[in-house]
Amino acid sequence: MGTELVDAPPALVLESVSKSYGDVVAASSLGLRAAPGELLTLIGPSGCGKSTVLRLVAGLERPDAGTIEIGGQVVAGARGWQPPERRRAGLVFQDHALFPHLSVHDNVGFGLDRLSRRDRSARIGEVLDLVRMGSLASRFPHELSGGEQQRVALARALAPRPVVMLLDEPFSSLDENLRAQVRADTVAVLRETGTTALLVTHDQTEALSTGDRVVVIRDGAIEQADTPQRVFESPATRFVASFMGEADFLPANVHDALLTCEIGVVSTVPGWADCDVDVDVVLRPHEVALAADPASSARVVAVEYHGAFVLHTVSLGSGRTLRSWQPHSVRHPVGTTVSASVAAGITPTLLVGDLAVTSPPPR
Ligand code: ADP
Repeated sequence: MGTELVDAPPALVLESVSKSYGDVVAASSLGLRAAPGELLTLIGPSGCGKSTVLRLVAGLERPDAGTIEIGGQVVAGARGWQPPERRRAGLVFQDHALFPHLSVHDNVGFGLDRLSRRDRSARIGEVLDLVRMGSLASRFPHELSGGEQQRVALARALAPRPVVMLLDEPFSSLDENLRAQVRADTVAVLRETGTTALLVTHDQTEALSTGDRVVVIRDGAIEQADTPQRVFESPATRFVASFMGEADFLPANVHDALLTCEIGVVSTVPGWADCDVDVDVVLRPHEVALAADPASSARVVAVEYHGAFVLHTVSLGSGRTLRSWQPHSVRHPVGTTVSASVAAGITPTLLVGDLAVTSPPPR
């Protein structure tokens, strides 16, 4: 990263932003900064407040408390208020929301009325080329496929050169095959234009694969805002561990740097010498290996074929279940007794209560 990026002020700042609807807390003292050009994905259960964040940034809602800045300018808070049309924020929704009676060209030109006719036309041509829709400028929305409509919506939002692009589940109305392509195109355009973006999604894979950082929201509060790798591999809380990917939780104990649970010794925990602490260990199905073992009290209770991989659910002696992804060449039929283990080199997440811990709690 060049110094100009390090020194550049954040494109977007939320400071202690709160918003309630009656008794429902939709945003609870949110703090978030997005660097110029950064792509943040927002994910959480339905109703957790993802869209509220976008509406607050766009100016469609007023926060009850806190400050929002876009491009260094306060747009909401005690020090000022800017209406949506004065904010440099572009919006793209799931349903594209194109004007049906306007051509592609005029849809994209809609927010450019402050430009001269010539500049307006030039800018429309530029953004339509960017989304590879230049040749369809005279079409009307009903003459476009879903993916093309989405690209026009993106072009329209980009045309006024927003500092922040707000995308609310922009791909979820597209069918699966198209979605991956439109998503890749959209991310490429955001990257090419250096546009900072907040992208709301309910799809864990999408959040992990497109975001520079993933913001996991629960009940209006940020549980973790971190790189995709850290959110998945080092979840900060039990909720993040279970929401971002599959996870099983087993009671475990760390004694003299050895992590032990029902399936045996799982790993060493460097730095945890001289302690004896009860924890829960987070095990991801792709980390769990299985071997047929007639002497084991663990038994395969379900086998789900997914194509390349097969999900095995194992009932342990205690009655707890543990899942394991196996390559499709490996099958342990239902009823097989198996021993489970964790591949060497994996240091699983440990929880005390609902929080992940990386060092032994003080005695
Ligand atoms: P998400 O996008 O994560 O599904 P939202 O931000 O839309 O969640 O909503 C967060 C919470 O606020 C939900 O409980 C929702 O019912 C409530 N909410 C959102 N908008 C309004 C509104 N205009 N009036 C009342 N409650 C609302």
